[in-house]
Amino acid sequence: MTCRHLVLVLGDQLDPDNAALDGFDSSRDRIAMIESREESIRIRSHKARTTLFLSAMRHYAQWLDQRGYPVDYLDIDHPHAERFADGLGHLIERHHPEQVVVIEPGEYGVASQIEQACADQGVALEVRSDRHFLCSTEQFAAWRDGRRTLVMEHFYRWMRREHDVLMKGDKPAGGQWNLDQQNRKTFGRKGPGMLPAPYGFEADEITRGVMDAVERRFPDNPGQLDGFSWAVTREQALQALDDFVQHRLAAFGPFQDAMWQDEPYLYHSMLASAMNLKLLNPREVIQAAVDAYESGQAPLQSVEGFVRQILGWREYVRGIYWSEMPDYLSRNTLNAKRTLPAFYWTGDTDMNCLATCIGQTLETGYAHHIQRLMVTGLFAMLYGVRPQEIHEWYLAVYVDAVEWVESPNTLGMSQHADGGLLGSKPYAASGRYIQRMSNYCAGCRYRPGESTGDDACPFTTLYWDFLIRHEKRFSQHPRAGMQWRMLNRLEPDERKAIVQQAKSLRACLG
Ligand code: FAD
Ligand code: SF4
Repeated sequence: MTCRHLVLVLGDQLDPDNAALDGFDSSRDRIAMIESREESIRIRSHKARTTLFLSAMRHYAQWLDQRGYPVDYLDIDHPHAERFADGLGHLIERHHPEQVVVIEPGEYGVASQIEQACADQGVALEVRSDRHFLCSTEQFAAWRDGRRTLVMEHFYRWMRREHDVLMKGDKPAGGQWNLDQQNRKTFGRKGPGMLPAPYGFEADEITRGVMDAVERRFPDNPGQLDGFSWAVTREQALQALDDFVQHRLAAFGPFQDAMWQDEPYLYHSMLASAMNLKLLNPREVIQAAVDAYESGQAPLQSVEGFVRQILGWREYVRGIYWSEMPDYLSRNTLNAKRTLPAFYWTGDTDMNCLATCIGQTLETGYAHHIQRLMVTGLFAMLYGVRPQEIHEWYLAVYVDAVEWVESPNTLGMSQHADGGLLGSKPYAASGRYIQRMSNYCAGCRYRPGESTGDDACPFTTLYWDFLIRHEKRFSQHPRAGMQWRMLNRLEPDERKAIVQQAKSLRACLG
């Protein structure tokens, strides 16, 4: 039997407006969906992450089926689902398509596997542009062409103008492009008080079936599934968006960077997974936030802060990923070589901030941006973890993890492994930063202000040691130099003691 198009829908392409379905002819074309086992083993994916992807795929296949699309679905137990490429090869052999059609995948390696599988079978491949994004890879390439530095803020302003978002004529609404200065509040001693309950959805029969399969197939993968409640359908994703706009958007901006013990979600949207699976379109998410501003439901500082993450950061990191791959993943500018400490997989450490953020991650598959950047990411960078190891950890443990968005955030923003392409200076800070932005230190056996001695905070020790180790590279740096010049305040004996303490710490954890 032959068909015209074999339309491949990948696990993160569950878009109701999927460009791969344009011109679909049910009498001549077929849809292929594959739950590859290798995807959950290669990077030991968190059980909640695998469950979310597979449940959302099965719901999407059901949605397609209800609309009369013929779908070939290889589930996780299918004999040809061991590797993605085997599954695809099997379906090509079964249908002998004239052409395989796919939307640009979210991972370079998957794109290569599809190309290879088609080449091996002598089948033409059509890769269609992913219209989910507001900036195509070609538009990003044109934007970056001729620029010496790729400053996100410049990209963001360009995007605001291009898409006429929060603009008054050619000026930003409210007169300022960036309201970050107003968005660094902490909760103070009293804490956040009553917080809106996070949204959640009960697992239906499809999700429960996936959970069983995940426990059976990947019993040793990290994480757990109790309380799994992520949105797995477009309807649920729309409800989640509405819930965020109604209950959390107004306070999102000011408390964006704050952290609090046992409060994993605070005022964050928890929408990244729904957007990355393409259940939600970023345009509708941005529009919902802008409408809330225009109707007086949320202040500009929150709406602008939220819009910047999606119209700015999310589109920008995708552009960086596709214009820098394939070698982006192997960058290691700071020459970091250490192995990831074992507690990243268990949360078993006496550093309260890390125990909390990792514990929460293993429990839910979620941590908000500052927990990722300024706790788990910061420690890995100061400790000197090989960037590729921490990259694999982030890709494994978060429900919203897809390589195009995870890797620039990890290798670029958090580890400075790309030499400053994405953020001109490393996000280096001591335990004092965590003390200021959270209440973690109050429940910790260490003291954030101390860099040596029995009670010294490991972040603070490793922070000064990091400055010492990279003094040559950064002391003359136009943006980072100031921070490095603080080293001049240390007496030679203090330097020596810090280096010695950092050495002992590494020996203990290594
Ligand atoms: P909110 O805080 O509510 O933010 C709103 C939305 O803005 C998010 O849903 C997301 O779509 C977008 N956004 C915010 N910050 C970023 C950013 N830096 N880059 C791209 N989009 C952003 N995000 C992912 O979607 N997948 C990842 O795998 C991922 N890995 C990360 C790894 C590290 C080391 C760091 C520092 C950040 C990572 N991020 C990743 C970015 C960010 O942390 C998450 O998007 C955010 O925490 C998701 O939670 P939320 O939906 O509640 O976001
Ligand atoms: Fe983390 Fe240091 Fe604070 Fe402990 S004292 S919670 S290790 S920053």
